[in-house]
Amino acid sequence: MSLVELESPSAAAEWCREQRTAGKSIGFIPTMGALHAGHLSLVERALEENDLVAVSVFVNPLQFDEASDLAHYPRDWSGDVAQLAGVGAHMVFTGTLEQFFAGELDREGRLDEGRLVAAGAGALGLEGACRHGHFDGVATIVDRLFDVVGPNRAYFGQKDFQQCLVVEEVARRRGAPEVVVCPISREASGLARSSRNERLSAADRERAACLSRSLSQAAHLWQDGERDASKLESVMRLELESAGVDIEYAAVRERRSWSAQACVGELRDAVALVAARLGEVRLIDNHILSECAPQEREALASPIPGRERPA
Ligand code: AMP
Repeated sequence: MSLVELESPSAAAEWCREQRTAGKSIGFIPTMGALHAGHLSLVERALEENDLVAVSVFVNPLQFDEASDLAHYPRDWSGDVAQLAGVGAHMVFTGTLEQFFAGELDREGRLDEGRLVAAGAGALGLEGACRHGHFDGVATIVDRLFDVVGPNRAYFGQKDFQQCLVVEEVARRRGAPEVVVCPISREASGLARSSRNERLSAADRERAACLSRSLSQAAHLWQDGERDASKLESVMRLELESAGVDIEYAAVRERRSWSAQACVGELRDAVALVAARLGEVRLIDNHILSECAPQEREALASPIPGRERPA
């Protein structure tokens, strides 16, 4: 079956309805386009686990807290379509805000605050604190996309750790779909793949590897038995500061009992998370410390000579 390209949510809903009626299971990957190998790893996983795979490409204005980030977000519909056809996805669709929320926008084209889907506890702190309204925007579009597709399973990247918490909550409230969280795809330097990486200069792209290096430093300490969040956070900050990036946060949290507050006492099931700016570009990354296998730790970063282990 060749890739079906649809340019409206209503056409996508009809295609999905027909497939479900025919008894096909649907795996769904919501994206904002400018696809890279990270997105394609989600598609490949979905292809293994479902009869059909549908992908949405929509740069959702509701989740942008900065107008310039939205304006500069990379867009490449024909490139996206070619990549999806290449890996064997079955359907890709897009749409406009007006189409997704027909009859629900005000005269200025904005969605009334009362119609936003509340993001829940996963939005507390860190990304939620730095990006006002971002996760309500995510929860709202994901809820609407689930209405359109009615998938059996939906695939998200661990790279957007808090987004996964938010989406899991949306799916729990609805009773479906099953949410599958997929591993972070990284460049050889350890840098987590992101559509925003395209906006980095060559020098900044190299510098940006400090995010994954900081996580690698925390992972080493964790493996040596460190369970104090503030010590793990210090080593991450040190790495980021030495690369001269603007740190928004370098934090360690319990991943199952998510809280906006800093962790005190001995950590048990922890995730390390970082956000930093390089010029105009804001990058995030994370690593689950309590699942730290040595080979995974190696994938995080190529160590700087002489600084393989934190002091
Ligand atoms: P985006 O287009 O950035 O909204 O991302 C769409 C989906 O792809 C989200 O679930 C992301 O978490 C996921 N994703 C983005 N980058 C990566 C990556 N490097 N590895 C794995 N998944 C990713």
